[in-house]
Amino acid sequence: MDEVKPSVVTVWPFVFSVPNVSVMFFTHTKADVSCQVPACINLVVGRLLLTVSIAWTVAEVEREEEGVLPIALAGDIDAYWADATPGVPEVGLRSALFQPTTGYSLPDAARMAEAVAAAPDLTSAAIRKMAETVSKTAWKRRSYYRLLNRMMFRACEPNQRYKVLERFYRLPQPLVERFYAGDATMGDKIRILTGKPPVPVSRAMRCLTEQSAFAVGARA
Ligand SMILES: Cc1cc2nc3c(=O)[nH]c(=O)nc-3n(C[C@H](O)[C@H](O)[C@H](O)COP(=O)(O)OP(=O)(O)OC[C@H]3O[C@@H](n4cnc5c(N)ncnc54)[C@H](O)[C@@H]3O)c2cc1C
Repeated sequence: MDEVKPSVVTVWPFVFSVPNVSVMFFTHTKADVSCQVPACINLVVGRLLLTVSIAWTVAEVEREEEGVLPIALAGDIDAYWADATPGVPEVGLRSALFQPTTGYSLPDAARMAEAVAAAPDLTSAAIRKMAETVSKTAWKRRSYYRLLNRMMFRACEPNQRYKVLERFYRLPQPLVERFYAGDATMGDKIRILTGKPPVPVSRAMRCLTEQSAFAVGARA
């Protein structure tokens, strides 16, 4: 049986910039739940990475924070809503509205805000019905993203995960943009999975179904 070996910390630094603003948002992301490091160490490592990787000197740090960003491997959305408080129009993460691979929820939140603003009936019952429908539709439409997450976090060795990202970011920018927006086309989906993955086929096959994420012995 090809068990996953003890994990190696994988750190992915990202830099975000806002157009026409001289402030940069730097994030270093660890895709490793087993590695619990105190926040102060993480922040020091983050700054060090910024200096070493792109040779920038930080003029001023406006704010530092640390957070955990969960991503979805699998789930039963119908059962989730069956358990939700009746009559309460839950939105945001509570309605499972987030891009499963990035964990980002802002675009969904903006769409939901627009939908609520345009809704003809603003009763709790009506908004609850709409939120539930939107949530279930999005969840079902995004099954591919959860499959990729299972491949990444259940099938791929931690010290090989960077190869998945290296390959992904060499793909055409429009594909990457559609992926982030949750709008990957069938062609995109095939292209993302085409090529020699750093994942043993046998282990990848075991991750195909959502139920596999709940199997006894499934790796965290
Ligand atoms: C490090 C990090 C980076 C991220 N980067 C991005 C990004 O770049 N783009 C993006 O889109 N997303 C990003 N996210 C994700 C995004 O921040 C979250 O998805 C978003 O904050 C979720 O918002 P929410 O309002 O749905 O839920 P929450 O932010 O969890 O808000 C729910 C609020 O409800 C309150 N609450 C809970 N229960 C009750 C109750 N019973 N009564 C009253 N109040 C209650 C909670 O205290 C909380 O304040 C990031 C997250 C992290 C951790």
